[in-house]
Amino acid sequence: MKAETKTLYIDTVGCQMNVLDSELVVGSLRRQGYTLVHEPTAADVILFNTCSVRAHAEEKIYSALGRLARHKRKHPDAVIGVLGCMAQKDQEEVRRRAPHVDLVVGTGQLARVPELVDAVKQTRQPQYALSLGRADAGKDTVTASFESFDPPRDASMRPTPFQAYVRIQIGCDKFCTYCVVPTTRGPEQSRHPDHLVAECRQLAAEGCKEVTLIGQTVNSYKFDHGDGRRTRLSDLISRIHDIDGIERIKFVTNFPKDMTDDLLDAVRELPKAVKYLHVPVQSGCDEVLKRMKRLYTVGSYREMLQRCRDKVPGVAISSDFIVGFCGETEGAFQKTMDLVREAKFKNSFIFKYSPRPGTKADDLFADDVPEEVKKRRNNDLLAVQSVNSLDDHRSRIGQTVEVLVEGPSKLGEKQPAGGARQLTGRTMADHIVVFDGHDRLIGRTLPVHVREASPFTLYGDAETGEVGGDELTAREPAAPPRLSLPLV
Ligand code: SAM
Ligand code: SF4
Repeated sequence: MKAETKTLYIDTVGCQMNVLDSELVVGSLRRQGYTLVHEPTAADVILFNTCSVRAHAEEKIYSALGRLARHKRKHPDAVIGVLGCMAQKDQEEVRRRAPHVDLVVGTGQLARVPELVDAVKQTRQPQYALSLGRADAGKDTVTASFESFDPPRDASMRPTPFQAYVRIQIGCDKFCTYCVVPTTRGPEQSRHPDHLVAECRQLAAEGCKEVTLIGQTVNSYKFDHGDGRRTRLSDLISRIHDIDGIERIKFVTNFPKDMTDDLLDAVRELPKAVKYLHVPVQSGCDEVLKRMKRLYTVGSYREMLQRCRDKVPGVAISSDFIVGFCGETEGAFQKTMDLVREAKFKNSFIFKYSPRPGTKADDLFADDVPEEVKKRRNNDLLAVQSVNSLDDHRSRIGQTVEVLVEGPSKLGEKQPAGGARQLTGRTMADHIVVFDGHDRLIGRTLPVHVREASPFTLYGDAETGEVGGDELTAREPAAPPRLSLPLV
């Protein structure tokens, strides 16, 4: 009889939430004896953790599934699963376009993956586990059907062993007209602060130095204890701040309207709070913001920016933009260009509008900006942002910055491990810094003297206080920076 092997492959597309979900799924399957492999065709269980924010992310998954159809015919015992946003949103479509898929599990049901994998293996029948749709029942019932699935973690799936995401909030109730997230992730819920503090303590005990608190509108986090007490994000950060071993606390993504003074005060006052705020504005034109239902105006966003900078001197701020949204005229786009010129974001993530079936924008408005215009606007905005990023980076030449060393840079990855090579890390204001050093520095926080800058990266010399060692002798050309999140 053939001995049962337990190998697992997982492909993750999308945002930090998905990276964390994959960590949790892998953690729970490892507990069942699975080992991770890096080729889908070498695995007994092949999982895709999916993203629906833009059409392109979905098409990538359908292509990957299509490539596996032949493999599945030859290896009918292989279990193929689609997890996450596409599963929750498009169960029928997944079954129609990829009938060889055995497992479809939504974002709110991931805790059941091990049990469902076993059920497929035993019954050879497909298994489906989805939360309720937003209109399927009353809000409390729908909310309860989206579980937060956080305790079983797997350190090997983290960005690095000393950095971890902590989900403090699930779902979203903002319903921006272009966005699928309220459908795929369900109603907004904030997790109990005691559970979050316990999770951060556990992470610190495992050697984690930096936690990134994640939520779709993380700054609207609030937990009502039921006895009149309320924990806000600022209170939660203060509690995590007291945990020994945690050196840095980040939080993403902020909603402009919910940027409260108590939070900004906490960021300024608490030394472990990273001096960086990701606050997407999406557009610099009020009419476009109104059609997006973003609930603020460009004027109120500008005021918020000023308040952030007044309250947290030196804070770095980044944004997201959607170009080519329905009805975006050239004049409207120029207002976005003006905002980017003036706002001095550290960096911006720019996306071409992708109509998403089931969203209000797709129902109500025509996708009337041609693809080549979207592309051009994307490039134009990127060019303005790059000038500002370079100016910002140049102003840091000559400074010494504190860098948490994350690992080898892209170039360093090609150099032999265990010795001297090019490393990368981030400052307290989230700037990427590349420098030559030794692998033993990975995971440490150290001063780096900045001597050069590009729009994406600072280049410097580490001040290790150490003598000797096998430092790099020849200076290699700097590698392109690693992609900064969000990936979607
Ligand atoms: N909750 C976050 C917020 O409100 O800023 C962002 C979540 S969303 C997953 C990440 C980014 O994707 C958004 O900020 C937006 O710029 C972009 N995005 C969302 N829906 C999109 C769509 N239909 N087409 C293009 N970009 C989109
Ligand atoms: Fe989507 Fe808007 Fe919610 Fe962000 S705030 S997840 S863009 S609906």
